[in-house]
Amino acid sequence: MGICPLFTFPYIYNRYMHKISKILVSVLLCSIFLGAVTDLFSFSGQDKRVRHAGGALSEREISLIRNSSPVMWVYQVSDPYQESVLRRPASEFDIAEVGSENVAILSSKMLSTVNAPQYGGVGIAGPQVGISRRIIAVCRLDKPGEPFEVYPNVKLDSLWGPVEKGREGCLSIPPYIGNVPRYKHAIVSYIDAKTLKVKRDTVSDYVARIFQHECDHLEGILFTDRVDTLNVDKSWEAEWKAFTDTAKVITGPVTF
Ligand SMILES: [Zn+2]
Repeated sequence: MGICPLFTFPYIYNRYMHKISKILVSVLLCSIFLGAVTDLFSFSGQDKRVRHAGGALSEREISLIRNSSPVMWVYQVSDPYQESVLRRPASEFDIAEVGSENVAILSSKMLSTVNAPQYGGVGIAGPQVGISRRIIAVCRLDKPGEPFEVYPNVKLDSLWGPVEKGREGCLSIPPYIGNVPRYKHAIVSYIDAKTLKVKRDTVSDYVARIFQHECDHLEGILFTDRVDTLNVDKSWEAEWKAFTDTAKVITGPVTF
């Protein structure tokens, strides 16, 4: 006896439903198992640990470090390309490279830049001079003589204490200032350029604020992301206008 085609599918479904369900469950379990095995052998954990590693300095980076003037151009958010660099998370240096001549030159030029009359800041980060690497210079107001120090592969290991609002500006966002909430205390770690060993330091108050501001730069975060209200610093506005009017003739941002 023939079976009407309209009834073929329900017949097959009822006849084989049990087997089909078993096969589907088996396929699902296999997928989950294979997924777990793939994760286990894909070193995804290792990738996460070294996600900031950027490898050796590129030719572009070496060229910028070696060929720029001693006072480097500070990247500005007002320029779309420079803002894209400022918004990019920075990579770590290879440990061996921290002790290299290239990083020594970069450190020296970052110090010249942050101390230049036209900038005159208390801190600067690699991305601000176009080098998207984890390196900052901080004015150690808590040490005798208030020296600037450079911290390659710097990280904030912990932040604690009350969160306090304090005035901040940024060399990349003149002439704006505003109150930014920051933790009172921080433990920072970095690679010592001489020994290539990890060093740690505990900092507080305004120095902790500088470290938090500069380490934000290494994540592509700007103080304007955290500020309550922004105001124009009138004296800085006048100074910045005078500088940029001159800078248009004598220097400019290095772009590739
Ligand atoms: Zn800044």
